[in-house]
Amino acid sequence: MKILLASSEVHPYSKTGGLADMVGALGKALARAGHTVGIVTPLSLGIRERYPEMQKLPMSLVLPLGQEQIKADVWSLDQNPNRTLYFVDQPAFFQRPGLYQEQGANYPDNARRFIFLSKAVAHLALHLPWQPEVLHVHDWQTGLAALFIAHERKRAAQGNGFRTSDSGLRIFPRTCMTIHNLAYQGLFPAADYALTNLPWDYFTLAGAEFYGQLSCLKAGIAYGDVLTTVSPRYAREITTPEFGCGMDGLLRQRQSSLFGILNGVDYEEWNTVNNPCLKHSYSVSDLSGKTANKLALQEELGLPQNERVPLFGNIGRMVEQKGVELLHPALMEMLQTDLQYVMLGTGNPSVEKAFEELARRFPNKAAVRVGFDEGLSHRIEAGCDFFLMPSQFEPCGLNQMYSLRYGTIPIVRATGGLDDTITDIRQNVEKADGIKFDQYSAPAFSKAIRKAVALYDQPELFHNFQVNAMNADFSWDRTAAEYVQVYERAGQGR
Ligand code: ADP
Repeated sequence: MKILLASSEVHPYSKTGGLADMVGALGKALARAGHTVGIVTPLSLGIRERYPEMQKLPMSLVLPLGQEQIKADVWSLDQNPNRTLYFVDQPAFFQRPGLYQEQGANYPDNARRFIFLSKAVAHLALHLPWQPEVLHVHDWQTGLAALFIAHERKRAAQGNGFRTSDSGLRIFPRTCMTIHNLAYQGLFPAADYALTNLPWDYFTLAGAEFYGQLSCLKAGIAYGDVLTTVSPRYAREITTPEFGCGMDGLLRQRQSSLFGILNGVDYEEWNTVNNPCLKHSYSVSDLSGKTANKLALQEELGLPQNERVPLFGNIGRMVEQKGVELLHPALMEMLQTDLQYVMLGTGNPSVEKAFEELARRFPNKAAVRVGFDEGLSHRIEAGCDFFLMPSQFEPCGLNQMYSLRYGTIPIVRATGGLDDTITDIRQNVEKADGIKFDQYSAPAFSKAIRKAVALYDQPELFHNFQVNAMNADFSWDRTAAEYVQVYERAGQGR
């Protein structure tokens, strides 16, 4: 199959979160399975310098954006014979320090930036010489591309069709829209819809309008031929008012085209053997290197080196969704006891401050690093005994799966993908690999941390958890095959 993926971030070129990991790994896995894969993404700051071998395509883009015509170049980078990256080079839009925001504030021209990106994506889907059969867009930043394709298809059906050559009408790619997080809806004032240059017929309750605003995410949900989200439980959750963020009605209407496919893990990147980010290799048959990594992490972050004190870690965006409002009070309580805590993250400036303050209050027990640091994220995963994810909701979550592979026991709230990927002792004594709690409250979370401390005091049981965790398998090959089935469904029409 010939598949074009589109995302505002792709690992290892640009990343703020799991979206980048997922698209990078899906592209790799589809190519490994023999499919032809292209990936469209912005040429963000620093990429060109890191990959000087990329080539400018002879096609350059001139696309309308409201009253303006915006130019962009496209650079390509062949990763292997059947996987090519296409970088949309529009310096005024994409050569910026942040992908979406700086210092916690969204860029004021995000509507222009991402409507343009979606136009570029649709244009490439229709004009790349290898004629993609599927366009797979991800999240609100590229969601409108599904509408642009639907619009072109409709025009062609009405006889105003677009031709690639004189030989006749081409086949339009079918579209797949993946929702990585329904809470980020790409909302902009209605007037920004004019930047799409589409007729206003699509700006309706059943289309791109959401309570009087433009929603780029909703456009993708309404016009994508098939929809997916990143875990089976989240696929069910988002059709309910509690998790539906106001879009549950539309999602229920589209339920027969909505599939929950659990993200996989790129084990080439996330592994404990010969990983350049780690000081010591280890494996399920010999965990001594894990202890050495723990001591090294304590040293790196300025905590007392002690292999016997349980070390808890946490990495991620410091935002409400990730349960920071539980994390802070639970830690204030638990750091009175004998444990250590390390955190790496960026996000809401007031949350960053609160956690830095917590580290100042418990200098021998807590270390907080504000920033984005790929290498440190691996060392935290490897060096900790437990990994904390008290999310309010979690579409899939990747860190808990990385933790499993690193023998670091995840403590998670039983929601979305966290519930789908972790086995609690109450579910299966033999296969338990993590600790789950249900209620979204600081006392429930503190109780889960106390259970972890008790587990740590039982070395044999703790070791069983680690063995189960490290043997869990979320490899991408299975996941990629599920996507191909969904792409085939997309071809069967709506
Ligand atoms: P989300 O996509 O909601 O942010 P996920 O758990 O799905 O959460 O994925 C987060 C990804 O981003 C993981 O690979 C995680 O290690 C990485 N990450 C998040 N914050 C940081 C950070 N500050 N430094 C390094 N990596 C980070």
